[in-house]
Amino acid sequence: MTHNPNAITALRSDLAGELRADDQGRRVAVCGWINARREHSQHLAFIDVRDHTGVVQCVVDNAHDLRSEYVVRVQATVTRRAAETVNPNLATGEIELKDCEVEVLARSDPPPIQIDARAGVDENHRLRYRYIDLRSERMQRNLRARALVNSALRAAMQRQGFVEVETPFLIASTPEGARDFVVPSRHSPGQFYALPQSPQLFKQLAMVGGIDRYYQIARCLRDEDLRADRQFEFTQLDAEASFVSQDDVLAFITEAVGDATEVVTSERTGEIPRLTWLEAMERFGSDKPDIRFGMELCDLTEVFATTDFNAFKAPSVKGICEPAGATKTRKQLDELTDKAKQWGAKGLVWMKVEPDLSLTSPVAKFLRDDEKQALVARLGAEPGDLVLVVADELARARHVLGLLRLELGRPAVNEGSLSFLWVVDFPLFEGLDETGAPIPAHHPFTMPNMADLELLDSAEPGVLLKVRSQAYDLTLNGWELGSGSVRIHRPDIQRKIFDLLGITPEEARQKFGFLLDAFGYGAPPHAGFAFGIDRLVALLVGEENIREVIAFPKTQSGADPLTGAPTAIDPRHLDELGLRLSPDPR
Ligand code: ASP
Repeated sequence: MTHNPNAITALRSDLAGELRADDQGRRVAVCGWINARREHSQHLAFIDVRDHTGVVQCVVDNAHDLRSEYVVRVQATVTRRAAETVNPNLATGEIELKDCEVEVLARSDPPPIQIDARAGVDENHRLRYRYIDLRSERMQRNLRARALVNSALRAAMQRQGFVEVETPFLIASTPEGARDFVVPSRHSPGQFYALPQSPQLFKQLAMVGGIDRYYQIARCLRDEDLRADRQFEFTQLDAEASFVSQDDVLAFITEAVGDATEVVTSERTGEIPRLTWLEAMERFGSDKPDIRFGMELCDLTEVFATTDFNAFKAPSVKGICEPAGATKTRKQLDELTDKAKQWGAKGLVWMKVEPDLSLTSPVAKFLRDDEKQALVARLGAEPGDLVLVVADELARARHVLGLLRLELGRPAVNEGSLSFLWVVDFPLFEGLDETGAPIPAHHPFTMPNMADLELLDSAEPGVLLKVRSQAYDLTLNGWELGSGSVRIHRPDIQRKIFDLLGITPEEARQKFGFLLDAFGYGAPPHAGFAFGIDRLVALLVGEENIREVIAFPKTQSGADPLTGAPTAIDPRHLDELGLRLSPDPR
């Protein structure tokens, strides 16, 4: 019997993929695309009709006028297949449609791409014909999963008292630190809007406005180089709340992410573990650690504190141990060394652990026995393992070994478990710029950790870089899903931070004057978060590239092969905007 009342429209009674054996005998009407056509004899042919729920086989007298991707309406009788023709791989495989009247609703030129054939298909070509690609089971599944995630997130936020507020697209500028996309103003020639990198400033203003808890499924635009996990336009679940602590925000988001995960995978994430930034860097060499596998970094600085081996006389000596990695060839080890150098290391030392726990290594003869024994013990290395050691500045040793760890041990991002992780206690500053001014690790409205407030008065850059912030990230399988922070709502602290960042009062006024003004009229303490829905959905459905969960994405070079964007514009339009192109716009 018809299972899904949503199927019924003026043209159809059922969805193709939903017909089952208990529909036997019913006269039905299904609509869809011809997925495949098989001529059996002159008077017998099979066509598979496909809609978003699947395919159903139709037995027709002749299929001469029917071609792949024609849109048809088939009125027919549901008939059980003979036992030997049942197809157990198909949800509708127990039945077929007989006594068919086939009406062609639209013809199709031969499709330029095969539906569901990915391997070897040029990406540009696929995106050029995205509307055909969208007919594939994979894209249908992905976009429907995405819709489920969006509604689960909305429901979770609403249930927790968050109010959906839309913020503007044509704005002044945001503090996320990427390049803005800009839009010229016709009314004020020579003036530009920025497209929002995030709703950051508006959500903070919403807190001053007493909204209490804000959320939005927000489109963000950042003019950055594209990668597998990055597009110019992306979608975030953006949230902000008043009178809350970091723990409150983490709980809100954990709840929302849990619901979104459950709605796609039928499993709940439960408690999400936490690591401090320092621990993440020490153990994994990354602020977005992939905790699905071990091979953690091990500090060996003390082991080599009195070494005679010059290459190990460095501020920091660290190593990783790849279980059973000693089978690597010289060539593979040379390649690893080249990579380590590309990533900034001066060199890479490899050691193979022998059955008697002695070490085979080009540098073995320079190391004392007690050093070798201590190294093996610290790393817990076993016969057949490969040990890789980097001796360098602390940050570089962590960075390079963190990347080597991923290189050697990382499962594909969409493989195995979903390992969510909170990384908390980020430093307030991530480094110093060429003028010696600290660079904010999040954005300049991030509240320092109150226990470290006094350190802000230190003139010493080394001390400043130790200041922790109340900023936190959510990661999943080594991808950064999102970030957030407790915000500065006290003008005195904000002034101090701007000072340290080298933002003059005039500059602050010019850039964020409206926010600072607003904070002068009663700003509640507030905190927030935002995470990428594209990334979350990609990993929930097991995709490695966020393009697979975006209906109309851009290519790696930022183009849209379907519509041709970006395109030149009419010279008259340029005139109206008061713009003139330089002769060679490159
Ligand atoms: N606006 C920040 C971002 O997009 C998130 C936040 O701090 O709430 O990364």
